[in-house]
Amino acid sequence: MLGGGIGGLAVALALARRGRAVRVFEQGAEFKEIGAGIQLGPNVYRMFEALGLTSAIERYCVHPDNLVMMDALTGEEVIRLHVGADAFQERFSGYRYGVIHRGDLHQVLLDACSAERGIELLTLKKGERFEDPGDRVLLHLEGGERVEACALIGADGLWSRMRAQMLADGKPRVSGHIAYRAVLPRAEVPDDLWQNNVVLWAGPKTHLVHYPLRRGELYNLVAVFHSDRYEEGWDVFGDADELRRKFANERPEVKRLLDKINVWKMWVLCDREPVRHYSQGRVTLLGDAAHPMLQYLAQGANMAIEDAVVLAAYAEISGWDFARAFRWYEDARYLRNARVQTTARYYGDIYHASGVVREVRNWFLAPGPEADPGAKPSFEGVAWLYDGIRIPTAAPG
Ligand SMILES: Cc1cc2nc3c(=O)[nH]c(=O)nc-3n(C[C@H](O)[C@H](O)[C@H](O)COP(=O)(O)OP(=O)(O)OC[C@H]3O[C@@H](n4cnc5c(N)ncnc54)[C@H](O)[C@@H]3O)c2cc1C
Repeated sequence: MLGGGIGGLAVALALARRGRAVRVFEQGAEFKEIGAGIQLGPNVYRMFEALGLTSAIERYCVHPDNLVMMDALTGEEVIRLHVGADAFQERFSGYRYGVIHRGDLHQVLLDACSAERGIELLTLKKGERFEDPGDRVLLHLEGGERVEACALIGADGLWSRMRAQMLADGKPRVSGHIAYRAVLPRAEVPDDLWQNNVVLWAGPKTHLVHYPLRRGELYNLVAVFHSDRYEEGWDVFGDADELRRKFANERPEVKRLLDKINVWKMWVLCDREPVRHYSQGRVTLLGDAAHPMLQYLAQGANMAIEDAVVLAAYAEISGWDFARAFRWYEDARYLRNARVQTTARYYGDIYHASGVVREVRNWFLAPGPEADPGAKPSFEGVAWLYDGIRIPTAAPG
């Protein structure tokens, strides 16, 4: 396994739970996640259950009551999805919606991996390239070390070296959107701005998302705007003045939250066109290495964890014939991942709409006058995503 992020640890765990020994090679000096919140759809809770992680996740996560979109110019509520309601849980087989600190999710996975005797976690091991002579894989690490294995999974993220070698499809696509992220302690959030909801303030070429984290001790803020700046990486400092300028015409609620923070970390948001194939013999890709997506559906990590569970199931079903299992895994996953990748782009356009398009959005998403407030919600629009996947129990037919 190359890469010890959320995807890499999830697949190491999924394989170890099925009795397979795994080595995880991480380039960093330690296994850790930086950044802020991760939203968890009911689809990934099904995966947590399969991995035996539900109670560990529950120790950290918050279950919001609603996902709410607000118009950042007028303050009107555009749409609200009651994810805390019994009806939501009932619709999605008892699974809920959650939010968790990225570090907490990673720590839950790391603790579970550390407790598995079959998993070896290795740091300061940077993968450079692989060779696949047919009966095994050779992974070449920086510094000249060469490792032999029966299969290799590249979970090395957006800037994946394994992908560069396998697909040679150039750099990721820079979306022109930048995310600034910060986390506030509960005490610093004005009471009138604190909500147990995931709130998205949609403004022209901007949006701000906020929600509580870590049992409600923290408040996660992610502000996104259009920019032509371009810097790689996750840990670059943002410019608070630039941010204030971008949101200058928006509602006081938005500006008051932004004003609470002086130090922001910045991400340049990138994705790629979906591809049909990302396996080659005994080597495959997983998570952002395989299908990097914009975060507008809040599903990149969710998809990486679904990948992990499916891959491990097929590996066992194939009798540990990894080349075969990787083909099945790819066939099972590519369309769903591609749908999330492409839909996320549309969601970005909807969030950032301006002018008349913004008005059309608000009109289109508003409940119609004929809507019965007492009617049971169908959650039809999100069912394709939140219904999730079946975990394979047999070879594909
Ligand atoms: C602003 C923002 C908000 C998001 N919100 C959500 C959300 O709410 N819900 C959600 O599901 N997803 C969300 N995502 C997406 C999610 O963060 C990613 O999809 C997820 O982290 C991908 O995990 P990964 O393990 O595939 O890759 P990464 O997290 O990038 O991990 C890759 C790992 O590989 C290591 N590595 C890289 N190269 C090498 C190498 N050559 N050798 C060895 N190790 C290497 C890295 O150090 C890292 O540890 C968001 C993303 C952004 C940017």
